[in-house]
Amino acid sequence: MESLSQKQKEFRAFKSLSNFSTANNANYYLLPFRFAALNTEREVLVNEVGDYLMVPQGTAQRIVERRIKQEEELYADLTANFFISQTPVPPLIDVLATRYRTKKSFLDDFTALHIFVLTLRCEHTCHYCQVSRVTQDKSAFDMSYDHLDKGIELMMQSPNPNVTLEFQGGEPLLAFEKIVYAVRKAESLARQLGKQLNIVICSNLAPLTEDILAFCREHGILLSTSIDGPSNLHNANRKRLGNNSYEMAVKGIERARQVLGEEKVSALMTTASRSLDYPVEIVDEYVKLGFKNIFLRPISPYGFARRNVRKNSYETETFLKFYKRALEHILAYNRQGYHLVEDYASIILRKILTPFPVGYVDLQSPSGLINSVVLFNYNGKIYASDEARMLAEMQDDTFCLGDLNKNSYEDIFYGPKAYEIAQNWSNESLAGCSDCAFQSYCGADPVYHHATQGDMAGYRPDSGFCQKNMEIIRYLLELMDNDQEVLAIFSRWVSNC
Ligand code: SF4
Repeated sequence: MESLSQKQKEFRAFKSLSNFSTANNANYYLLPFRFAALNTEREVLVNEVGDYLMVPQGTAQRIVERRIKQEEELYADLTANFFISQTPVPPLIDVLATRYRTKKSFLDDFTALHIFVLTLRCEHTCHYCQVSRVTQDKSAFDMSYDHLDKGIELMMQSPNPNVTLEFQGGEPLLAFEKIVYAVRKAESLARQLGKQLNIVICSNLAPLTEDILAFCREHGILLSTSIDGPSNLHNANRKRLGNNSYEMAVKGIERARQVLGEEKVSALMTTASRSLDYPVEIVDEYVKLGFKNIFLRPISPYGFARRNVRKNSYETETFLKFYKRALEHILAYNRQGYHLVEDYASIILRKILTPFPVGYVDLQSPSGLINSVVLFNYNGKIYASDEARMLAEMQDDTFCLGDLNKNSYEDIFYGPKAYEIAQNWSNESLAGCSDCAFQSYCGADPVYHHATQGDMAGYRPDSGFCQKNMEIIRYLLELMDNDQEVLAIFSRWVSNC
């Protein structure tokens, strides 16, 4: 009889390669793929580069048990899409490697979006706002010229040949003289360095004037504003003296379209608690105003929004019901010939239906923090994203990368804080995400998980971020699986026609 120590030695010893071979009992080898149920009848298989097959329930089990026969059509599909291979290493492995590199090519050029919080001053007092300060004291809450200079110089050190200068607030048009200064300086440096410069102003449009519009036209500036829905809903969310935020925004949109052109004006909506009852009316409002895009955004569950929990807090489940009803209505418009894109779905669909990467911070892995975006706050502090500065407004500086007064480009972008965040920003290596079928369509969000779970890595079974993305991705796949017309509409969304 073998002694216990002999058995332990055998257990610990490396087995020979033939021990792992499946060649004796199979006609194919498995390549890395993941799977998930779409509903009680169908499941989806997703390979390493995000190619998918929607198949009957039980197919993944048949595949791993080597029960797929060569004469089945599925066998050819699985081979062509790199789910299985007739050889241990597929002959076209280089094609797969190139596709993987393309999916991750958003990393090639590093940070593009540079957000400058010019001022915290605002004449609105939106209840979900992170920052607005109604004050005439410019020096207390405005960015100094010195900080503007330093921020723009850092932006120009980015290796990215295309950089975006985005002004936020508060209401940045209240510090328009600083916009003029920053635009002129950035344009001059971009010319010297041969960089392409894009400029965006995020504004409620209430302070818009003809002079401001003329400047925007001269410098090719894009205006991004907020429309939360019909007048009563918008004005209830976005308070200002006179209760006319909606009217001011619509007037600004119309005038800006006349002066700058349709494509230079966009709008975002924020889903406050009271918005949840109006998915259809919100979509109708965007159509009424002639928009071709709508972004159904949940409220950020942290920062100032938490101070007004009744108006700003709801379960992810409730948001998903709202989202699906709104999406149905958007699809109905598309069926009638009105091209209206839901932006969040469109970002995910681009990952599902095309070989290309997307540059949306929350749905990137590695995350878009630092890799795609950085934010210079009004007081000279530098944050890894817009959400990171929302946390800072609640005295949580976890995602502060440095200070314009003290730190160099290397300190900020390659310093210890950047490394700490980097350990938690790839869903390929995060518990829960690493074996999730939707990994290549989703992202990592260390700021959200730190804010809601006290841990940058986060715990997926309790994560609202995970719950939202998992259900939206599953729902989009199910819609395409059930209806060829929806697949055609979604394909148009990602090809922009
Ligand atoms: S966050 Fe959730 S849905 Fe997204 S990859 Fe991770 S486990 Fe999957």
